[in-house]
Amino acid sequence: MKYISTRGNSPSQTFSEILLGGLAPDGGLYLPESYPQFSATDLAAMRAMNYRELAFTILSRFADDIPAADLRDIVNRTYTAEVYCHTREGQNADDITPTVKLEDGLFLLSLSNGPTLAFKDMAMQLLGNLFEYVLAKTGREINILGATSGDTGSAAEYAMRGKKGIKVFMLSPHQKMSRFQTAQMFSLQDPNIFNIAVKGVFDDAQDIVKAVSNDHAFKAQYKIGAVNSINWGRIAAQVVYYFKGYFAVTRSNDEKVSFTVPSGNFGNVCAGHIARMMGLPVSKLVVATNENDVLDEFFRTGVYRPRGSAQTYHTSSPSMDISKASNFERFVFDLVGRDSAKMRELWGKVDSGGAFDLNEGGYFAKVGDYGFVSGASNHAYRMQTIRDTHAKYGVTIDTHTADGLKVALEHREASVPMVVLETALPAKFEDAIQEALGRAPERPADLAGLENLPQRFEVMDVDMDAIKQFVAAHS
Ligand SMILES: *Cc1c(COP(=O)(O)O)cnc(C)c1O
Repeated sequence: MKYISTRGNSPSQTFSEILLGGLAPDGGLYLPESYPQFSATDLAAMRAMNYRELAFTILSRFADDIPAADLRDIVNRTYTAEVYCHTREGQNADDITPTVKLEDGLFLLSLSNGPTLAFKDMAMQLLGNLFEYVLAKTGREINILGATSGDTGSAAEYAMRGKKGIKVFMLSPHQKMSRFQTAQMFSLQDPNIFNIAVKGVFDDAQDIVKAVSNDHAFKAQYKIGAVNSINWGRIAAQVVYYFKGYFAVTRSNDEKVSFTVPSGNFGNVCAGHIARMMGLPVSKLVVATNENDVLDEFFRTGVYRPRGSAQTYHTSSPSMDISKASNFERFVFDLVGRDSAKMRELWGKVDSGGAFDLNEGGYFAKVGDYGFVSGASNHAYRMQTIRDTHAKYGVTIDTHTADGLKVALEHREASVPMVVLETALPAKFEDAIQEALGRAPERPADLAGLENLPQRFEVMDVDMDAIKQFVAAHS
């Protein structure tokens, strides 16, 4: 299996070659040159598999340059009940991603049982083990530099802690994350994890990471890598749970299922698109946004109009507060018939701050063929959905999942089960749950008193040179 760039001007590469990187050299994103296909016979065999078997079956098609025995070992070490230990009472922990039935035909797919209580652990934990494996094989080391407003940074740190050959330098806005998120990251005492609290906002931290990444000499000398959401390994890992969720709510592969995905960077739902392209019988892929509705606008109108960070609203579903959906480029590549010249034209506009309209050329008319529909939510809907779900089903959901459920209810079809992806546990967003329900959510026992643990972090100015020096001194 070779991987090609959406912009068409980079050499094709193997899975291991693109694993540690981000963008392709031509600025595009990597995708398989063709999607592996699962036949009806394959699907019938996959139905009975547990998460580990299913993950191996799917990932071995993508990572075919890793010896099967090694990949199986990595997958078996990653997807364990010990790592994904935050399942709800009564759920089968070894299931890794159990479903919660709200009512006939309406389900949650629990993806947030990992160490940081968000779905990003599903892919990031695998990435930690894959990185360590590939680095050990080639005798290389990597320094991961990232910026986070909360979820990505903590998922990356919990995946990379203690891993040989890997150091993590994670920039976050000083005193701007929730107490829980801060404590989760800063209480890590592993010597390969460095938390840098930047005296500024998230965009300041992000700008420093971008500037350092554009300093090619520094990047090469200090082996700077990234784990951002455009990493192909993360997308590949996320494909697995669409299959698992499908099998969980159907009895036969003649049935179809729809998925609703609380979306920001389009990484999660992009994996759903790929699962569908591989032969999973998916009816609709419902993209749910919050007030930051750049994706909903596209799926309603055909116009993709990324916003500036100044036009990004800070909401109570903060992990979906994005103005530009980086993984969206992967879907558009398929939508325009994998025409890389067209991609260069479209993203030429995006990269210079513009927009594009896919009604031109008739591309938008084909969106329906891919199953995509969308909707947007807001704070009032979020609060109402959390209250309704608690009252009606006795289930507490987080704010992101609430955006998903709100939009899912607008797109249900008779006799097609609707699965809403649960992208975080409510314990992660205590203030919002307190506002909605008048009491704090239950917190998993192993995280009690998290905020009282000793914390390890550096406070630094918004000063790229100082941060470069810090990385150089500790790498
Ligand atoms: C990251 C995140 C999202 C958005 O996922 P994308 O892959 O960026 O679309 C939604 N909900 C939660 C809780 C997240 O952490």
